[in-house]
Amino acid sequence: MKNNGLLLVLSGPSGSGKDTVIAELMKLGLDMVQSVSMTTRAPREGENHGVDYLFVDTDYFTDAIENKKMLEYAQYGVNFYGTPKEPVDNWLSEGKIVILKIDVQGCENIKKMYPDALTVFITPPNMTVLEKRLRRRGTETDEDVERRLKIAIDEINKIPLYDYVVINDELEKAVDDVYTIIKAEQLKVSRRTNILSEVKDNV
Ligand code: 5GP
Repeated sequence: MKNNGLLLVLSGPSGSGKDTVIAELMKLGLDMVQSVSMTTRAPREGENHGVDYLFVDTDYFTDAIENKKMLEYAQYGVNFYGTPKEPVDNWLSEGKIVILKIDVQGCENIKKMYPDALTVFITPPNMTVLEKRLRRRGTETDEDVERRLKIAIDEINKIPLYDYVVINDELEKAVDDVYTIIKAEQLKVSRRTNILSEVKDNV
């Protein structure tokens, strides 16, 4: 699909720090919005409906799939996660940078529909750091942590499918890396369809 905006897919294992990276990016004055995903999982402490996710039940989610209201969706553990289609298409037509924080499965589906989507994988520097972060979060049982670590390894194995990988060891550096990637993407000739007429203004 052709549009003027930039669809930015950010993936990374749970605990990779992608939420913090996104929060910092939002402060940098880019014309950027983040899609709010829909999920059937229960809210964690401090999470709000409409901000962190649209928390819905399974019936609501499956209705949305049947009515073609989801851009993509995936099952992760026992829960569904997906991206509502309409707001994303509206933002892209307004020329915005639209962040999709989605998993590897979702990224593969998005690339099929939006081949010019920019895909970035945020990774922890290593599994030891990831495990520490997950345990520190304190919201997950031991079983959850083990399950998330296994899923993380599967996700990390998919890094070669992405356009870019950013190691989130130092937050500031990771944010700067993603910012640089966005800026370079926006400067691509293929995205600057009016460049010749702009430069040759009075020729
Ligand atoms: P969490 O439960 O930790 O918030 O998220 C679990 C996983 O679901 C993460 O890998 C996250 O990126 C992924 N996820 C969140 N929203 C979406 C979505 O809309 N679509 C897909 N495919 N994955 C999502």
